[in-house]
Amino acid sequence: MKKLILCDFDGTITRQDTLVKILDRFAGNAWHLIEKKILKEVFGNRIGLKQEFDLCDPKQATRDNIAGLLNEEIEIDPHFKQFLEFCRRESYEFVIVSGGFSLCIDTILKKYGLGSIPYYSNKLLFEKNKLRIENPYSSDDCALCGNCKTMHLRRYMSLGYYIIYIGDSTTDRCPVKYADMAFTKNHLTEYCLREKMAHIPYETFADIQAYLSEVTERYESYKNSGEKNEKYN
Ligand SMILES: [Mg+2]
Ligand SMILES: [Zn+2]
Repeated sequence: MKKLILCDFDGTITRQDTLVKILDRFAGNAWHLIEKKILKEVFGNRIGLKQEFDLCDPKQATRDNIAGLLNEEIEIDPHFKQFLEFCRRESYEFVIVSGGFSLCIDTILKKYGLGSIPYYSNKLLFEKNKLRIENPYSSDDCALCGNCKTMHLRRYMSLGYYIIYIGDSTTDRCPVKYADMAFTKNHLTEYCLREKMAHIPYETFADIQAYLSEVTERYESYKNSGEKNEKYN
């Protein structure tokens, strides 16, 4: 079976959320009130993110200033590179699905020499007097998401993929319930506990790699041991 890892970017591949960094630097304090409303599901992240970025001062929040800030202050999970190698070795395809911006993903992948990893995200456009958000992957079926991760998940499922989802926060609520297997941390773990959804809590990509290695190893030894025949005869 074809196996696909759909992975969130902010707070999952990166240790700090790029959007939080940008808003803390360029939007003043009021964005926290909007974020609380997203957490309580007063509205989704498509509407919330637009409101938050409307608070940014476009003269300060330029493309160069944002890239500079992220280059200085964003780190990735220390086990992420190893995990990507593991995925290549074990034939897990890997795709990023992000509620953030292509600028943030491109900047960080370049900073860490990670090459090109396929991704779906929103776009931040720098217009004369404002920052505008473009949502090329919003879905008519979902009122919540700017980039509806469930839409991507469903497309891959219909192509016959087994889907492993990895995420940490509000933009992962939509897809997490549909994945075949889900690794969660922070807000997303709390959400899954509250909603009684199956999930595997993790701290770093090393935990996920260990879990998937063990599953693969157990499966291989089960296949090779003849245990299968004993069990079912
Ligand atoms: Mg996240
Ligand atoms: Zn959605």
